[in-house]
Amino acid sequence: MIDSACADAGRDAASVRLLAVSKRHPVAAIRKLQAQGQLAFGENYVDEALEKQAALADVDIEWHYIGPIQSNKTRDLAAHFQWVQSVDREKILKRLSAQRPDDLPPMNICLQVNVDAEPQKAGAAPADLPGLAELAGGLPGLRLRGLMCIPRATDSITQTRASFARTRECFEALCVAGHELDTLSMGMSGDIAPAIAEGSTMVRVGTALFGPRD
Ligand SMILES: *Cc1c(COP(=O)(O)O)cnc(C)c1O
Repeated sequence: MIDSACADAGRDAASVRLLAVSKRHPVAAIRKLQAQGQLAFGENYVDEALEKQAALADVDIEWHYIGPIQSNKTRDLAAHFQWVQSVDREKILKRLSAQRPDDLPPMNICLQVNVDAEPQKAGAAPADLPGLAELAGGLPGLRLRGLMCIPRATDSITQTRASFARTRECFEALCVAGHELDTLSMGMSGDIAPAIAEGSTMVRVGTALFGPRD
């Protein structure tokens, strides 16, 4: 799917990473995909993720947290994940920085953008991104990598693509402002092609890899 979307967009397939979203799928399914060469896995619930990590401690996995963040969970995130993609406020950046253990490399961070200004959805407003990026860039223990978005649920590919385009514009503005970013995390099972057409460098795929969740 990534290959054909890249071919359609005139992009090199190697420019898009696959994050396997394993929330609510069992350890055995992760183990199987890891054995086939998949490195990066994404989880949405901290407690579920910690249990899986313990059960998979014998294999090499890069863990990404992509779910909503409660501030009382940042210590677990800081200690047990290589990436947190769903950071949307100052307090979380400061806590992850302060709590990142000194013996680990900097935590890779994406700022989540609420690109369609949906009231119930996590994510920072586009107008708040420059300030958050500035803060993230100055904090020890963090490495700002880019942006993540989840567009409004709609049947219109045109609208979804426009949301991805706006996220890319936010990303480009941060790059122009001097941030060295390499990650535009956009696209899930249902919208991989428009995300890749708009410049995604990482698609987060659950259902299309593992089948439906319970
Ligand atoms: C669940 C989830 C995904 C994967 O969704 P699928 O439609 O199953 O591919 C991607 N990103 C985030 C943030 C998610 O919560």
